Amino acid sequence: MARRTEAYPNNAPGPFFVDRTCIDCGTCYQFAPDTFADGGAHAYVHTQPMDEARGLRAAMALVACPVGSIGSDEKGHLQAAARAFPHPLTEDVYFSGYTSEKSYGAWSYFIRRPRGNVLMDSPRAAEPLMKNLEALGGVSMLVLSHQDDVADHAAFRQRFGCERVMHRGDGLTGLERLVDGDEPIALDEDLLLIPTPGHTAGSVCLLYRDCLFTGDHLWWNPEKRRLSASRTYNWHSWEQQLASLEKLLAYDFSRVLPGHGYLHKAQSPEAMRADLERAIRALRAS
Ligand code: SF4
Repeated sequence: MARRTEAYPNNAPGPFFVDRTCIDCGTCYQFAPDTFADGGAHAYVHTQPMDEARGLRAAMALVACPVGSIGSDEKGHLQAAARAFPHPLTEDVYFSGYTSEKSYGAWSYFIRRPRGNVLMDSPRAAEPLMKNLEALGGVSMLVLSHQDDVADHAAFRQRFGCERVMHRGDGLTGLERLVDGDEPIALDEDLLLIPTPGHTAGSVCLLYRDCLFTGDHLWWNPEKRRLSASRTYNWHSWEQQLASLEKLLAYDFSRVLPGHGYLHKAQSPEAMRADLERAIRALRAS
């Protein structure tokens, strides 16, 4: 629970505020940029919400915050915000909200499909989210991109009986399915698991239609205005991560949905490929 007495002084005056417990995961200013901004090492409120839509969006950011660093004196939107996840990003792909401190606020995504719903990485096992996922048909499969973003995977298994899928390279024990090797694996006719070792030994991406879910392998960097990856937060092999980025040039997708960092949508798979080539050139040169 955020405390007004611990609020950063640069919050704009008004009901919403960010306090000193913020871990700068980026969720609030990526999800509700009309209200929140990146202050360098922490988020802050740059403009108080001026209408209903922005008020609800800011309240949803409060709900999604992994560490409860956002407070509001305006309680009107909070109940609706708690029930608003998963939040649709496309016709059948949703942001799960309810990020977890265990995953440092990494984003999880929900894919609603007739052949069985999928979670990409684990959100916080919050009851309002669990109920909504149940109403949307439950979760058949939970794909874990890598060892850092597993959060409450066991609770989702317990609630929904979903099959948890992960690469053996990241070695989590007790899962229903561990995959091996560097070759892509068809989890279903519309779900392709692509091993992309580098950030960790067992990092994988998931391709669904035009969406590539990338975990911590790849994201959009708005300051550099290009796709990016982090050498600083590389836990296994930077050379392998670069090679794994090159491997993605063989696939068609126009959306990148990462665990951390900004989402990216290109006009077409060809435009995304050009974006990826530009990123690889820049990362190899850095
Ligand atoms: S969502 Fe919470 S922890 Fe993440 S940047 Fe915003 S206030 Fe900080």
